[in-house]
Amino acid sequence: MRILISGASVAGPVLAYWLSRYGFDVTLVERAPALRKAGGHAVDLFRPATRIAGKMGVLAELEARKTGTELLSLRREGSERTHRLRVGKLITTFSDQHIEIMRDDLSEVFYDATRDRAEYLFGDSIAALREHPGGVEVTFENGPAREFDLVIGADGLHSNVRRLVFGPESAFTTWIGAYLAVMSMPNYLGLRGRVEGVVGVNRMAAVYGDTRMDDARGLFMFRPERELDYHHRDAARQKDLLREHLDGLGWEVPRLMEMLDTAPTFYFDSVTQLRMPTWSRGRVSLVGDAGYSPGPAVGGSTSIAIVGAYVLAGELAEAGGDHLRAFAAYERELGDYVRRSRRFAVGAAKRLIPGSSRALTGMVAGIRIIDRLPAPVARAASRLGGGVLRLHDEVPVRDYQSVATRR
Ligand SMILES: Cc1cc2nc3c(=O)[nH]c(=O)nc-3n(C[C@H](O)[C@H](O)[C@H](O)COP(=O)(O)OP(=O)(O)OC[C@H]3O[C@@H](n4cnc5c(N)ncnc54)[C@H](O)[C@@H]3O)c2cc1C
Repeated sequence: MRILISGASVAGPVLAYWLSRYGFDVTLVERAPALRKAGGHAVDLFRPATRIAGKMGVLAELEARKTGTELLSLRREGSERTHRLRVGKLITTFSDQHIEIMRDDLSEVFYDATRDRAEYLFGDSIAALREHPGGVEVTFENGPAREFDLVIGADGLHSNVRRLVFGPESAFTTWIGAYLAVMSMPNYLGLRGRVEGVVGVNRMAAVYGDTRMDDARGLFMFRPERELDYHHRDAARQKDLLREHLDGLGWEVPRLMEMLDTAPTFYFDSVTQLRMPTWSRGRVSLVGDAGYSPGPAVGGSTSIAIVGAYVLAGELAEAGGDHLRAFAAYERELGDYVRRSRRFAVGAAKRLIPGSSRALTGMVAGIRIIDRLPAPVARAASRLGGGVLRLHDEVPVRDYQSVATRR
């Protein structure tokens, strides 16, 4: 059975790995001319995702490449006082097995684990899909048309496959009230395993660096009163909007705003959630951010992408390639996690960018308290209130290992 996956970042290669292990014939098409190796940002793997990586035999490699953010130093807007938080302590409150890694490193590890198992087509994109009773005819922008049995969109928040099959993105996105920007920049603050930043009402700016990176990343978030009007390719306007909303925030922000003009890479997007009633239609399905992003940087979406890819492959194998049965089972199996991660993301966005002076005071107090609590007590506290903070660590994932053995 021939399966085409669009997108070779996180969900795509993980899906390719498991599908090929179950005996499917896999091709990946990636729009970028080669594996992305510049820019990018740190992402999080929680316990289920690290376990899946372990089953893929790449856990040691991920551990070796992980970034080690140890200390967060945060100021409140208008104050010189720095509040410190040992990040390891914070992480252990909601995860027992966490890996922070640059997204490009993660992709490379998954690519290396799959490049001999699957066919990779870089520098191309699906132009059209035509489903017929026996399969899907796929037209590419650059290469010749080909036939596949199934097509899976793993092409991110602004998915091409989703647009071709389900229609315009705007029908499925919900803005959760924030904007996010990331730039790469020289590590002039000399940060190694440290995040420094400033937070005010409805806005924050931070810089992080690591021993594994030559440069640093500036990370900015803000919450305007209403959705902003800009074109997604108009970087100059996006930089102006960022400057406007962070004006007067203090700390290093004026210098960072000057650096925007020379930043080697710059990313700007609204923090939106995808809410689709179903991720599958006919012989096409979606995985990772393409199908159910809870919002970048707030909802543990990398972990969901890995779990989603593993589950989709497992269900396809278990159903013996019967895609209708498998897609329905995939959505059933993952649906609860996706819905809960959306709620988690909305809460996380509020916690990261406090919406009032009172919430800001609460955030700073929270940092001081967590830093002082002994780790087991902080962990126990995180389990209160239904353990929502531990969502990504405690989500149950079926073991499809026996499927692999049977096949
Ligand atoms: C600024 C930022 C910060 C983030 N911070 C965090 C974080 O702290 N923690 C966390 O867990 N997650 C974070 N995320 C989210 C995380 O990056 C994604 O959830 C994760 O990468 C999802 O993987 P994916 O494979 O589904 O999609 P993506 O990583 O978006 O990959 C999609 C792939 O599809 C390719 N593609 C796009 N269009 C086409 C096309 N037409 N044809 C072929 N290929 C195409 C792209 O080039 C890319 O390789 C952040 C995201 C952003 C943008």
